Amino acid sequence: MQDPRGIGEDQWREIMAEWGEPAYRARQVWEALQRHERSYDEMTNLPRDLRRRLAEHFPQAQPRVREERQGADGSRKLLLELADGEGVEAVLLPRPWGYAGCISTQAGCRMGCAFCASTLGGRRRQLTAGEMLAQVQALGRLTPRGELSRVLLMGSGEPLDNLAEVERFLELIHAPGGLEVGRRRTVLSTCGLVPELRRLARRGLPLTLSVSLHAPADDLRAQLMPVAGRYPLAELLDACREWQERTGRMVTMEYVLLEGINDAPTQARDLARLLAGRRHKVNLIPYNRVPERPFRATRGPRREAFARLLAEGGIPVTVRRSLGREVEAACGQLRRRRDADGGALQRGQRRGPTAGEQRG
Ligand code: SAH
Repeated sequence: MQDPRGIGEDQWREIMAEWGEPAYRARQVWEALQRHERSYDEMTNLPRDLRRRLAEHFPQAQPRVREERQGADGSRKLLLELADGEGVEAVLLPRPWGYAGCISTQAGCRMGCAFCASTLGGRRRQLTAGEMLAQVQALGRLTPRGELSRVLLMGSGEPLDNLAEVERFLELIHAPGGLEVGRRRTVLSTCGLVPELRRLARRGLPLTLSVSLHAPADDLRAQLMPVAGRYPLAELLDACREWQERTGRMVTMEYVLLEGINDAPTQARDLARLLAGRRHKVNLIPYNRVPERPFRATRGPRREAFARLLAEGGIPVTVRRSLGREVEAACGQLRRRRDADGGALQRGQRRGPTAGEQRG
């Protein structure tokens, strides 16, 4: 059964034609679902028979908010329960210019990054475009004007490991008459799946791309991120160059500072050398501690020193404020804790990752 939110206007046009309805109904249904989040009952501009038929063929399932956490900084994190009981996290981040909403693209993750909470239970399943949209809508409801200025695909999961649904989702939120999120205001963060990154680059969408780098050399990177064993830095950086050429957009390199692991002055210099002449920004991210993981965050002075060395090496650098720390905003933390507490999120279908899911 398809989530009606994930159906594009084109597809509605086909459905309406098949049902013998006038073509303009497609637009009415699509807009009502995307922008106004109406239930069929509320779509009073549609004939009653059509509403009944829609409800029968495309039942609507609003994800339930299982838990909500609020941080002192105003960030709010939702744990949403999907129709099959699977849980996903979405975070609302207040910014000076409006609200950013950070959503998940998969339930769990199979990338296996050593410091991350999302990947601890493997990938449970892909999220559909409709389920991604539902997260945007749920976060939008928490804002005064009912909308997000920015959508970040930076929650749990690897968006490029679910590229087909992510592309459908992007079409929905960018389309005129829908939520109309700006393409440049859509941020996609990836651990670096090179073939998929190139495929998306060739679409030429001027999205804001973040790449999780986290190490200046392949050996350390492969210890932290199994994906680096498949795609060495040279290949990843080539793909980033192609991204810049095709989209005209700069790429941000994310670098989470882990105490004693990747935060030494020599590593800052190596990183500056690696990125020299490439027009990438570096965003230094404070690590949010994950109880199951041995890593610690680099402390202030060492972080500042790292940033300074990058700047001296000619690399534009920003240090991310640790927004959302109090709400366990790092990927997968809330969902994890809920699992550990025995919160029956999965309705008894809790299971470990199967061999096939553990690629990295
Ligand atoms: N799979 C994508 C998006 C998910 S996470 C990716 O890898 O980019 C978004 C960012 O948060 C990534 O850079 C990820 O490495 C980082 N991250 C994961 N766990 C973290 C933690 N506990 N503290 C800080 N950053 C974390």
